[in-house]
Amino acid sequence: MSASLAETVSWVDVPPGSPFPLHNLPLGVGRRTDGTVGAFVAIGDQALDLAEAAGTGFLDDSPAEYGLLDAGGTLNGFAAAGRSAHRALRRRLMELFTDRTREAQLSPLLVPIDELTMVLPIAVGDYVDFYSSLHHATNLGRLFRPDGEALMPNWRHIPIGYHGRSGTIVPDGADIPRPHGLRLVAGGPQYGASNALDIELEVGFVVGAPSDRGYPVAVADADDHLFGVCLINDWSARDIQAYEYQPLGPFLGKSFATSMSPWIVTLDALEPYRVEPVEQDPPVANYLHATGATGFDLYLEVLVQSETMRASGSEPIVIARTGFADIYWTAAQQLAHMTVNGASLRAGDLFASGTVSGPIPGSEGSLIEQSWRGERPIPLPDGTTRSFLLDGDRITIRGWAGSDPGSRIGLGSVTGTITPGHLTTTEH
Ligand code: CA
Repeated sequence: MSASLAETVSWVDVPPGSPFPLHNLPLGVGRRTDGTVGAFVAIGDQALDLAEAAGTGFLDDSPAEYGLLDAGGTLNGFAAAGRSAHRALRRRLMELFTDRTREAQLSPLLVPIDELTMVLPIAVGDYVDFYSSLHHATNLGRLFRPDGEALMPNWRHIPIGYHGRSGTIVPDGADIPRPHGLRLVAGGPQYGASNALDIELEVGFVVGAPSDRGYPVAVADADDHLFGVCLINDWSARDIQAYEYQPLGPFLGKSFATSMSPWIVTLDALEPYRVEPVEQDPPVANYLHATGATGFDLYLEVLVQSETMRASGSEPIVIARTGFADIYWTAAQQLAHMTVNGASLRAGDLFASGTVSGPIPGSEGSLIEQSWRGERPIPLPDGTTRSFLLDGDRITIRGWAGSDPGSRIGLGSVTGTITPGHLTTTEH
C-alpha cells in the first residue's frame, strides 16, 4: 500500500491491530440498544451513523441522495449507486476522519461497535456459489468420486457454480439448526438428522451497479459492478449433499443456511491489496480473459469452539489458515461468466468464491477435507475430535487483506452455532 495512506492519522483513536483502520472504512447495518437501525461506517472500535452525519451536514449529499439506508433498512440503494458514489463517500469520510477540526462535532455521533447488533447489510437478491479453488475442487473430487478424475473436464474452462437460496442467508451470530433429510444409511435412503454437518470458508462479493438483461458484462468492466467483499460460511450437510447432488448439483444439503459477515469492505479499500491471479492453463475463452492484478491478497481463518470449551472458558482455536491470492477463478471472471448468457445483475446480488483451500494440511476450508472424511479427525482442547460438527459447536470465520500486520485491513468475522434442529411434523 502507499506510504501516504499508512501515515495518514485519524482523530478517532484506532487501537493497534484493529481490523478497521482509517484506510478500511467498511459499511454495515446495525441495531442500537434502543432498537433503532442505522447504516454505519466502522473505524477502530467505533462506528459512525451515516444518516446522522448526513443529517448534520457532514456529508455532501442528503442520506436520501446517497441512499445509505433504504426503506428496507439495507444498503442496496447505495450499492446500486455504483462505484463513483462509493468512492465519493469514502473520500468524504477520509476527509472528515482526518480533519481534527471536525472531532468535537462528529465524535458524539460515534457509537461503540460492541453496542451494535449487526444485521444483514444487504437484502440479498440472487445468490450464486462458485467452486473456484483448485485445491478444494481437487480434494472434493477425490472424496466424492474416488474412482474418477478429480476435476471434471469443464472445470478449467468455466467457473463452475450454482444458484443458491438467498432467503436463508443469515447474519453474524445466527444459530444454525442441524438440517434433517434423506441420506444413505446402510445402502438405502433414510430420513434423519445430518451426521455430516460441515463448513465452507468462502469470500463473498456483493453486486453494486446493476446491468441490463441481454447485455453481458465484460470481464474488464466487472469491477464497476462490484460494491464490496464479505466473508461467507456455506454450511453444508455432506450426507444429504452426497445423496442428492447428481445430476443437478447442490440443493438441500446447502440451502438450509449460509452465514454472511456484517461489514462490507468496499472495492476501493481493497485496491492496495490487488495481486496478479494465478496463470490459467489451458488459456480461457476470450470473454473470461482478464489482464492485470485482478486478484485479492486475502488471508482467512476458521476457528472452532465446542460447547464444552465454552463452558470451561477455553478460547476458540484456529483449525485452518488459508490464502485467497491463488484462487483459480477471480471475482471479475465469475461476474463476467454469470452474465455471458445475458442474465442481468441487481444491486445486492451476492456471489461467493467457493470453499477456499490451500495446498498444505491445515489450509483446507472445510472439515471434510481437513479430516479427509474422518480419516484424520481434528483434535480439540476439550479432548474430543471432530470430523464433522456436533451440536453446540461454534464456528467463526475471519479474514483480512494484506500480509503486513502494520498495514492490513480486516474483513471482520462471521460466527454461527450449531443447534439440534427440528424434525418434520410427520416424524413427531
Ligand atoms: Ca460452497
